Amino acid sequence: MSSPANFDFHCHSTVSDGLLPPAEVVARAAGLGVSHLALTDHDDIDGLPEARQAAEERGLVFVNGVEISIEWEGNPIHVVGLGFDARHPGFVEGLVSVRSGRVERARRMGDAFAAIGIPGVFEGAMRHAGNPLLISRAHFARHLVETGLFKEPRNVFDHYLVPGKPGYVEHRWASLGAALGWIHAAGGVAVVAHPARYKLSSGQMRRFLGDFKDLGGQAIEVVCGSHSPDHILHYARLARQFAFHASRGSDFHGPVESYVDLGCLPALPEDLKPVWRLLDI
Ligand code: AMP
Ligand code: MN
Ligand code: MN
Ligand code: MN
Repeated sequence: MSSPANFDFHCHSTVSDGLLPPAEVVARAAGLGVSHLALTDHDDIDGLPEARQAAEERGLVFVNGVEISIEWEGNPIHVVGLGFDARHPGFVEGLVSVRSGRVERARRMGDAFAAIGIPGVFEGAMRHAGNPLLISRAHFARHLVETGLFKEPRNVFDHYLVPGKPGYVEHRWASLGAALGWIHAAGGVAVVAHPARYKLSSGQMRRFLGDFKDLGGQAIEVVCGSHSPDHILHYARLARQFAFHASRGSDFHGPVESYVDLGCLPALPEDLKPVWRLLDI
């Protein structure tokens, strides 16, 4: 008897702020029973060839993925792109433009820490970055845990790395329209990542989802690592109201740091249209 399908369309490798190289993410997913996987590194697609090859060797269906950092009305939001042509020039150029500001932002974060008496933080964070161009707040958090300042990365976020805290630096990410334009030009499907994680009022969330839909966005993550059972019910309702397809993804970053492991998630509510129906798989 074959095992049941298990879709995980959101996870990270060392190409962004994950802790495992792409092939190891795939091997772990296979071991946990994932049958269909998308690797969705932040703003970078360099891990896709290695992940695709590892997936083919293990009999997993692999889907190209990326998680693009955007801002909408000043709020940082993440949009997952799935099933795109990774060689499309406009798409590739778009991702280059999102990445380009990260090192500069990281230097300014280092300066902000130095100003409150914590030196060497930029260099320390860089040592954790498998891909220096993708230096992320997650690498800063790992460095500050390593120095003994806090026990868990999430404590570093709470005290230093979120808006209003001393290590947070404002950054201009891509616009929603630009990111969806790149994904669609490359033949992909755009998905709102982990909608419950944003600091939006319910009115703002509805306006954001309306803008996303007007720009051709087709899906939202309903089941994801950071969603509680109540979040799943809430975003399933919004998916029905906006006629969105629904996605499912762990947002796995590494064995100890993640909300849940690869593929270890509830099923999508049965009446929703799964996002994989929009993909050529
Ligand atoms: P950045 O793209 O540099 O703004 O960093 C965002 C990344 O930091 C996310 O993709 C997560 O991996 C991580 N992150 C964000 N918020 C938290 C948090 N509260 N606790 C732990 N990690 C977080
Ligand atoms: Mn991340
Ligand atoms: Mn995200
Ligand atoms: Mn993610």
